[in-house]
Amino acid sequence: MADPSLIDQARSPVSTAPDPVRATAWLEALPAAAALFRRTGMLYAVNTLGREWFVVDNRAPLASQSWSVVLLPLGSSGSTLLTRVASGESPTTQQVPLGRDGRIADLRAVPFDDELLLLTATVTAAGDEHRTMSARVDRELSALMMLTPSSVRITDVAGRILQSNGAADLEHAAHRPATVRELWELDAPHDVANNRPLSFLDAPAMRALAGNLVRQQRLEVRRLGAQRVIESSAAPIRNEQLEVTGVVLLDRDVTDHDRLERQLHERQGREAELQHQVTHEREHLERLVEERSRALIASQEDRLRDRRLTAVGQLAAGVMHDVNNALNPIMAAAYLLRHYAESPDAVRDYADRIQKAAEIGAATASRVGRFIRQEPVHAGGDEALDLSAMVEEVLDLTQPMRLRRSSDAGEVVIVRQCAPTVSTRGLPGEIREALLNLVQNAVDAMPTGGTLTVRTFEEGADACLAIRDTGVGMSADVRERAFEPFFTTKGAKGSGLGLAEVYGIARRHRGTATISSVPGRGTEVTLRLPRAVGIETADAIPDAALLPVIPHHILVVEDHDDGREFLRRILMAAGHHVDAVATCAEAREKLASGAEIPYDLMLTDVGLPDGSGWDLVRYARRKVPDVRVGVITGWEPIADTGESHGAEFILRKPLRAAELQAHIAGRSAPASTTE
Ligand code: ADP
Ligand code: MG
Repeated sequence: MADPSLIDQARSPVSTAPDPVRATAWLEALPAAAALFRRTGMLYAVNTLGREWFVVDNRAPLASQSWSVVLLPLGSSGSTLLTRVASGESPTTQQVPLGRDGRIADLRAVPFDDELLLLTATVTAAGDEHRTMSARVDRELSALMMLTPSSVRITDVAGRILQSNGAADLEHAAHRPATVRELWELDAPHDVANNRPLSFLDAPAMRALAGNLVRQQRLEVRRLGAQRVIESSAAPIRNEQLEVTGVVLLDRDVTDHDRLERQLHERQGREAELQHQVTHEREHLERLVEERSRALIASQEDRLRDRRLTAVGQLAAGVMHDVNNALNPIMAAAYLLRHYAESPDAVRDYADRIQKAAEIGAATASRVGRFIRQEPVHAGGDEALDLSAMVEEVLDLTQPMRLRRSSDAGEVVIVRQCAPTVSTRGLPGEIREALLNLVQNAVDAMPTGGTLTVRTFEEGADACLAIRDTGVGMSADVRERAFEPFFTTKGAKGSGLGLAEVYGIARRHRGTATISSVPGRGTEVTLRLPRAVGIETADAIPDAALLPVIPHHILVVEDHDDGREFLRRILMAAGHHVDAVATCAEAREKLASGAEIPYDLMLTDVGLPDGSGWDLVRYARRKVPDVRVGVITGWEPIADTGESHGAEFILRKPLRAAELQAHIAGRSAPASTTE
């Protein structure tokens, strides 16, 4: 503290203000940091200790430096004291802690004369205890500063950098900044958020000196010749009076972090993009597959339709061929009959010829009927079949096709090696279809002619059928895939369904289909179906002419006039007593009133004008259970077996007289085997 007597000493020789040189010499004598200020606030004189303690710019005139700057190291205390004294308060003193080392400054401000004010600062050393603690805090702080990867600087209130850590010292290796101003000049910071150069007053250190807390301000700075991005933070350091006495500056270099983050972001972006592409691609593929599948199904349906049309055409050709062959002799014989009507021998001869030809026509019609009445396995049940007989039918049916082929190219020779009967059970329509497909394939395989061998035989529990050709044969590949639906090597001409159907039909009949083939030599396809015990065929029906006729009382129900009349006459010719009616109503009436002479048998058509023949059958079963019933049907599929309706037998048109009479005599095969 400045001694009051010294002040008096200084005042006494001069009543007015001393010149600065003298004043300075006088100040030097004081054992304190001391400075004289004009009442206007500008510096007048300062001693050496004062220059050390205060902020005095040695290059600038003293009169241009104000106490608010010069006394910065004392916080605002110095200037506050002086202001109070300048405004007439009595001289005052104050203690101010200096720095962090525990030293205390005793401040004293007094009016020196009318014009000048004197400020002295005497530094008192801190106590031992305080020093020890302070030293420890210092060491801890140093350790902390060493550890952090951020750069840390501590400044005093004038912005002089008092302390910095290693990270900070590396930033500007060539020139270590001594003040925050120098640091700002070296960094040339650019404000990233606002995209403009950062003014010195906006620098984090300056804002912290002004009492603000600055958190992570993003700046682009120039360091070691490169542009770096930093996050700069700054906090004011305050004394006990909460006055700012310095700042802590903390910079974190986030350039690499930013780059990594950017890369990560880009990568995530690319991944999302890729994911999007994959999804898009997959959707595209799915759409494509769906479209193709739809197109494929459509084309398969087309093929199926084409194939059915082809089959129908084939069938029609076969039928026409047979029907014409049958009609020819009938027309000729009818003509000749009229011509030779007087000769009983000729009449009988032509009648025989007409009957034979008509039989052929009838056989064709019944074959076609069977073919088009294909009923699924579950609906119609199966029938006893003779594979040998079916082979004959199919060969007949395919004859026109084979003939056409033969005339185009080489001839196809047919060799039959069939056992007399090979019995199985199944759907005749399906078996016929399978045979048709196999014959078709064999013929296709022999474009320049060859031999088609058909064999039927029994082997163990199997009824077998084999069709062999001397055609092109199949490679192993083709053989493996031949049963696949739609697999064909015939291009647009093939449907690829033939063998698939054969396979399916064999399976449905609890049998197998196998292929053996040698490329260039030929192919044999074998069907094996479960064998059945023998069946009665039409041949087994005894010749009616040989049977003794027992006269029956018969009711005929048929709406077709010619049909009814012929039926009546045939029955009467055989010695029966016949009533014939055209409707269900009439038939019911006859049955109900027939007690006088009871009917033995009713023969009824199915399609009647006022109902179905089946209704009539049920009516008869209920009302007159003793009357036997036979049904005659044209083309209708028999959805149910005759027995369930109570019919004893079912006959198909055209009627064969011999067959009819065998049934009437009660000596025929059961209704279900009769076609
Ligand atoms: P498609 O006759 O319409 O081609 P299939 O299912 O009947 O269809 O036959 C499939 C394929 O099997 C034929 O395209 C053919 O390559 C082969 N194939 C069938 N039968 C024979 C055969 N008898 N000889 C040689 N190859 C045959
Ligand atoms: Mg085929």
